Amino acid sequence: FWALPEHEPQARRMWKEAPHILEVLGHYFGEYPFLKDKYWVVEAPYLGMEHQTLVAYGDNFTDNSFGFDGILLHETAHEWWGNKVTVSDWADFWLHEAFATYAEALYVDATSGHERYLAYMKRMRPRIHNKKPIVQGKNLDSIHAYTGDIYFKGAWVLHTLRWLIGDEAFLGILHDFPNDPRYAYRHATTKDFTDFVEARTGRDLGWFWKRYLYTAALPRYTVTRSASGKGEKLQLAWDDPSFELPIPVSVGGQLHRVAMPQGHGELVIPAGAEVEVDPEGLILAKGPTD
Ligand SMILES: [Zn+2]
Repeated sequence: FWALPEHEPQARRMWKEAPHILEVLGHYFGEYPFLKDKYWVVEAPYLGMEHQTLVAYGDNFTDNSFGFDGILLHETAHEWWGNKVTVSDWADFWLHEAFATYAEALYVDATSGHERYLAYMKRMRPRIHNKKPIVQGKNLDSIHAYTGDIYFKGAWVLHTLRWLIGDEAFLGILHDFPNDPRYAYRHATTKDFTDFVEARTGRDLGWFWKRYLYTAALPRYTVTRSASGKGEKLQLAWDDPSFELPIPVSVGGQLHRVAMPQGHGELVIPAGAEVEVDPEGLILAKGPTD
């Protein structure tokens, strides 16, 4: 760690976090990619930058309320997502920023547990703007490619993908993609990643990518309740029949996963049951009142 002399005590304190950060990120994404070279941090007069093997850091040496230095972790995660796997076009820049941002949440998951992970994701949610698609097309310059949504919305797309395909497949993909010889220390595109996910899950997820990566507006669902026999029926519908993301619904405190083939799903519930859609914040979508 190369810090200004007047910041030595803070820098020494922060530096103690580094081995644990490398260990946790290594657990999720595979061994630190530049072991034979180095891992350095250099104090800089700006927030941070992910130079290969050398993180530039300038964020006051303060931990966030989740107990870690977010900038140090984010820039370090870029050693995998940015420096080991690198995009060749600005259009794909979410492969760097969304994954480094999501790495922050994974760190919380590993060190503080799932409840805190969900709280960390929830904290990002108001920072999503939906003004432009995450992947905007070729021949952009960096000014236009860099929107907040490639960070926070991108991280939420990964969070939602985790709900869709499950922890085992999702975490396996996050580990194996940057270690695949086609992409490790090479370039990758959004299509490389989405093809990788589809090959691993054996599913055509075109509807998922189309809505979350190539469309600005979020998917929206409606909920209707009606009497059905002695109980009630809950009907859920997406605003697009090709969008098939299952919806988490809590009925009387019990969480259900409602399948949404052709954008529609139903759940029979006891009369008067207390219903809450997505109480934990697992999917990126707008409800009837959003
Ligand atoms: Zn970044």
